[in-house]
Amino acid sequence: MKDISFEAQLLHTPYGKPDAYNALSMPVYTNAAYEFDTAEAMEAAFCGRTPDHAYSRITNPTVQYFEDRVRTITGALSVTALNSGMAAITNIFMNLAYAGSNIVTSPHLFGNTYSLFKSTLGNFGVEARFCDLTDAEAVKAAVDENTCAIFLEIITNPQLEVANLKVLSVIAQEASVPLIADTTILPFCAFKADNFGVDIEMVSSTKYISGGATSVGGLILDYGTFDWNKSPILQPFAQQFGPAAFTARLRREVHRNIGAYMTPQVAHLQTLGLETMQLRFRQQAETCLELAKRLQTLEGIVAVNYTGLEDNPFYQLSNEQFGAYPGAMLTFDLASREQCFAFLNNLKLICRATNLFDNKTLIIHPASTIYGNFTEEQRQGMNVSQQTIRLSVGLEAVDDLFNDIQQALNSVR
Ligand SMILES: *Cc1c(COP(=O)(O)O)cnc(C)c1O
Repeated sequence: MKDISFEAQLLHTPYGKPDAYNALSMPVYTNAAYEFDTAEAMEAAFCGRTPDHAYSRITNPTVQYFEDRVRTITGALSVTALNSGMAAITNIFMNLAYAGSNIVTSPHLFGNTYSLFKSTLGNFGVEARFCDLTDAEAVKAAVDENTCAIFLEIITNPQLEVANLKVLSVIAQEASVPLIADTTILPFCAFKADNFGVDIEMVSSTKYISGGATSVGGLILDYGTFDWNKSPILQPFAQQFGPAAFTARLRREVHRNIGAYMTPQVAHLQTLGLETMQLRFRQQAETCLELAKRLQTLEGIVAVNYTGLEDNPFYQLSNEQFGAYPGAMLTFDLASREQCFAFLNNLKLICRATNLFDNKTLIIHPASTIYGNFTEEQRQGMNVSQQTIRLSVGLEAVDDLFNDIQQALNSVR
């Protein structure tokens, strides 16, 4: 279905086998196991020679349908759905990293990703090599023959820093290292990772895709663009599977062993969410840009950070890579941590909660929550300030949000 619009593709991906009752939407298959007619058919399925399902930790029709729909709209070679964004990142690095290897990345990372690289994988002899990904020379200097990947978030959170993806992809190609991007901050309709040389894309589908924070999930998209002969650990798979080597090891070994496959209930919810993702994103991102502009006019707000604002240092690059609406999240700074707490406590409409891209607008003070268990020194290294508040913009009218922020600010000052 290549000749239909993106909007239509979001809605119309037929499912593989006819349902016994001709259900119009994919049924939710909550079973664990599948019955076989013969021992031979069973052998073929278990050995991967036929695409039949054997056990729902490995594949499941409802989850596979969700994966197929994401594959249809992105053009990825393969899509794997896991039970959280963190499970997706963990699976990627269990598949790629090995004792003695290193991951070249920025210190500006989602808190659990930072901790996964530094502590969890660090204990298995994998080095997190933090450098400034906006500095090409620093990245070149950090990459060596033991680098298993360059990993980045396309817009960091909460710093809202943007790295030049074309520059990074050239460095990655020259060093024969895969470029892996966490693109959670933007949905597929706003950013096509493979156009920027990303080899493996990771998404927390908890955010835009889930359809209003219905469920937690994560996706791994393999574009089949990297020559895995260059990876010591995937080289044997590259001999057998060519460009599909990453997916081959992931699906035959790593994801089965970790056991964090998405559940059919979640896949059902997220398939529905996918259908309205583009509509919700457009509305939320437009409101976000408008609100960012209005917040700049408010006394008491020291700074507003959104890469879609023309005076933002990353505006030009952000516009080239992501267009006029770079997401539905912004941050702003107040004078002090105390002011931030008082401000949050005075809000009447906006919800104090973590998460991004719920239908409702959510607000959080990152330094005391998501980064609350880091030392002040670590927080400063990650550029997470006590003055910063993060806002995930929902589907409310922009006036409602602006008025709530204004009244909370007035009662603080
Ligand atoms: C939320 C988030 C994650 C983790 O995803 P979960 O689904 O919560 O496990 C990773 N990266 C980014 C940028 C996120 O916002």
